[in-house]
Amino acid sequence: MIKISQLHKSFGSNQVLKGIDLEVDLSQVVVVIGPSGSGKSTLLRCCNGLEIAQQGVIDICGQRLTDNGAMLAEKDLNRLRTQVGMVFQSFNLFPHLSVLHNVTIGPRTLRGMGAAQSEQLGEALLAKVGLAEKSSAMPASLSGGQKQRVAIARALAMEPKVMLFDEPTSALDPELVGEVLQVMKLLAKEGMTMMVVTHEMSFAKEVADTVVVMDGGRIIEAGVPEVIFKNPKEARTRLFLQAIL
Ligand code: ATP
Ligand code: MG
Repeated sequence: MIKISQLHKSFGSNQVLKGIDLEVDLSQVVVVIGPSGSGKSTLLRCCNGLEIAQQGVIDICGQRLTDNGAMLAEKDLNRLRTQVGMVFQSFNLFPHLSVLHNVTIGPRTLRGMGAAQSEQLGEALLAKVGLAEKSSAMPASLSGGQKQRVAIARALAMEPKVMLFDEPTSALDPELVGEVLQVMKLLAKEGMTMMVVTHEMSFAKEVADTVVVMDGGRIIEAGVPEVIFKNPKEARTRLFLQAIL
């Protein structure tokens, strides 16, 4: 579903990704961990064309997104973005739109869906994330965990083939983290292909097929959670895990 080969990305003279190779198969959950500045967000952003890598190839959802600095044409990129959902640390809801409207605006404007159909879809997705009763609420009246669940419903409204999550629970009060992780677990169980940057190791242990450890713009090791958490090969992985656990 995602195949990344020898991806290199620099900002000016700062080499942020130094040859990333990574595959995410259909219905797999890959959790990406690593210290601050190691390039995790940049890697995710490259996967939906928010950043352009100078070198390397990304194939995603059956299309070549990046090919050694060349990007998909605008029209194809916009279509691809509807297939690759992204959820950020900050929820970025439209503050002036109701919860339901936040969820339906994507399918209305980008998929040409009619009002009735998009509202039906929106209500179903809000029910799925446990917020059926909040559909007419305004974002400002929601807790952080509720906002993030709306953001997930909004991403799902595009009926993506892949979901990218960049530290979706990092901005939340600890007691609100669980409700968001629960929604993500449900998606994983339903077979969504997911790439998740998170420091929630319980989530990684329970849900990840593969844990990828980044450091200094490289993948220093990758494996099943039991091995990465209990018996990592790399001293740097051990140090990182000690620091966050
Ligand atoms: P964190 O855990 O803090 O979120 P990260 O692993 O997600 O870190 P990135 O955000 O990918 O790391 O950043 C990697 C490096 O790239 C950092 O040195 C950062 O300063 C730099 N960087 C990221 N985005 C930009 C940008 N738009 N312009 C310039 N430099 C950037
Ligand atoms: Mg980041």
